[in-house]
Amino acid sequence: MAGEFGNPEVVQEEVDILLIGGGMACCGAGYEIMRWAEAAKAATGVDLKIKLVDKAAMDRSGAVAQGLSAINTYIGSEQDPADYARMVSNDLMGITRDDLAYDLGRHVDESVHLFEEWGLPIWKTDDQGVRHDGAESIREGIPALKDGGKPVRSGKWQIMINGESYKWIVAEAAKKALGSDRIQERIFIVKLVNDKNDPSRIAGAVGFSVREHKVMVYKFKACLLAAGGCVNLFRPRSVGEGTGRAWYPVWNAGSTYSMAAEAGAELTMMENRFVPARFKDGYGPVGAWFLLFKAKATNAFGEVYMDRNKEMLNDYPPYGQAAVPASCLRNHLMLKEMKEGRGPIYMDTVTALANLRETLTPKEVKHLEAEAWEDFLDMCVGQCGIWVGENIEPEKKNSELMPTEPYLLGSHSGCCGIWTSGPDDVGAPTDEAMDGVPGHLPKGWSWGYRGMTTVKGLFTAGDGVGASGHKFSSGSHAEGRMAAKSMVQYCLDNKDWTPELDTDVDALVEEIYKPVRTYMEHKDYSTAIDVNPHYITPKMLQFRLQKIMDEYVAGVATYYTTNAHMLAVAEEKLEMLKEDAAKMRAKDLHELLRAWENYHRILTAEAHMKHIQFREESRYPGFYYRADKNFVDEENWKCFVNSVYDKDSKKWTCFKRAHVDLVDKSK
Ligand code: FAD
Repeated sequence: MAGEFGNPEVVQEEVDILLIGGGMACCGAGYEIMRWAEAAKAATGVDLKIKLVDKAAMDRSGAVAQGLSAINTYIGSEQDPADYARMVSNDLMGITRDDLAYDLGRHVDESVHLFEEWGLPIWKTDDQGVRHDGAESIREGIPALKDGGKPVRSGKWQIMINGESYKWIVAEAAKKALGSDRIQERIFIVKLVNDKNDPSRIAGAVGFSVREHKVMVYKFKACLLAAGGCVNLFRPRSVGEGTGRAWYPVWNAGSTYSMAAEAGAELTMMENRFVPARFKDGYGPVGAWFLLFKAKATNAFGEVYMDRNKEMLNDYPPYGQAAVPASCLRNHLMLKEMKEGRGPIYMDTVTALANLRETLTPKEVKHLEAEAWEDFLDMCVGQCGIWVGENIEPEKKNSELMPTEPYLLGSHSGCCGIWTSGPDDVGAPTDEAMDGVPGHLPKGWSWGYRGMTTVKGLFTAGDGVGASGHKFSSGSHAEGRMAAKSMVQYCLDNKDWTPELDTDVDALVEEIYKPVRTYMEHKDYSTAIDVNPHYITPKMLQFRLQKIMDEYVAGVATYYTTNAHMLAVAEEKLEMLKEDAAKMRAKDLHELLRAWENYHRILTAEAHMKHIQFREESRYPGFYYRADKNFVDEENWKCFVNSVYDKDSKKWTCFKRAHVDLVDKSK
């Protein structure tokens, strides 16, 4: 029966593996999984049923929707993955999992080679004549890019691409591998369902179509939860007519973290956040300006604040003294200028282009200027709009920079996420639990299947994997591919097990459609549709969440500063917000989507707040400060802060896990 508003059709489906999300990680998984599934069928006769669902359309979904101008993780045959793990660790103030970073480093290039094979244009030194590093290969057997060409590097780990259609290209390969029957777009997954007979196992997921009146109930043996990071949990700088502009994509709403937490998965480093300093208002990328055009950021008086304030870096050894200081510390030095009234902060594009003019021909300079525009056009068209609207010619007028509102993510320059099983061949610790780790959780860093969380059958990748940042687009894709392989193995190992949902399907449907029921029951109580004592609109609820987070949990309103008292207020207000969230209305499918996105954001926000409360230091100065613990305490807090959520009592338990360096960081 075709559903109607308030009376949705319920579609139940049983598969072996569900991929949730159609972003870089799930595209990686979607491409890779068929190879292993087909090999498994040939070897064992087991025919695995696989499905991918995305809340949007894969061609333009996720963080790469607009395209990118650089692939930020490409190791290259001349570099050592251990060096990459060192960089990841330093940038994230010393607390990352070397096993995950190293493993990613040794696999990521294969994804980049695939992108090129599928048609992604990668800049080569030979083509562009910009640079040739001439380095020798130190990694035997690692193939180079097509034609043996060297990529143009904008930084040690980054390579330049013509990437406006990056996501199209990557999605096309995943779609082709999976086949259209295995893909359902416009399905928003609301929650995961544990197994009836084993609560530490995952058995299904439930969601709804954002286009048709349908609730989808899936049962499966394994699932890859890779629904990106979390945006819009803090009040954005862009409000009013600018609402909707943010740096990370607004459609990634914390689904990964909240659904995993509710399923009982252990989270890690949820106190971490990313506050990128970007071109003001348009959020345009700065990487090419800093790395390729060698521009400097200055205060209003033309002083380079990284030089002016360089002594401040010595307060945070060794992270401030590395050749490239940790990202948060670079913000820390910028914020000093802003707080002391020497703003605005500028990207000195005028000097950078003038310097280039001294060594390059006018034609080459013109070419570089075109590249500067293209950098925006490839991945952030809105920034071009700002430059055009404000008459900015970068060779004549500098552009303002601004640290954004905070975002939660695990694949870019942040490391919050889910605690996942790493590789078993890199000497990771096996019994590193510290006091207070709940007994049901695995010991050590590897418990069987690469990419599996602490819930059996629940895997993650990309922004979902915590304690290992700097994977970016290529790394997220590679991580999805690794998870795909593990999931196939997991399904073969559990081929005789049948999932059973711990909750009745009718109850799940009612829960999902509650905002619709609330609306239908009360809509005639008042004459103005948005003003009603019986419900709150998702938009208003989101404003409330953002205000709480902004003012008490170190948003832009307080220059990213909080303390134990402010966090206690936030805790109380979030409790009340959760009570009111139960009264969200949905007058149509779009609002139903917004309502559940808010629910995911609130749980993610709560995890963030609890972790900041638990970690009694300021590990990421420039990203957030606890004014009452404004120091980095290497002795007591150089450890992971992890947590589990109990969906019945609705309580969080935070605890420490030991941090161990697997790569020698003194090098
Ligand atoms: P995403 O690619 O974001 O995919 C998440 C997917 O989940 C989407 O398809 C979304 O529709 C879906 N989804 C979300 N919630 C649900 C739900 N509840 N149910 C169903 N589906 C859901 N990387 C680089 O290499 N170079 C760069 O220059 C670069 N610049 C960046 C600039 C910006 C502004 C941003 C935002 C990211 C940038 N990155 C860059 C990083 C890169 O985009 C991410 O690392 C990568 O996309 C993460 O992959 P993911 O699969 O975890 O998440």
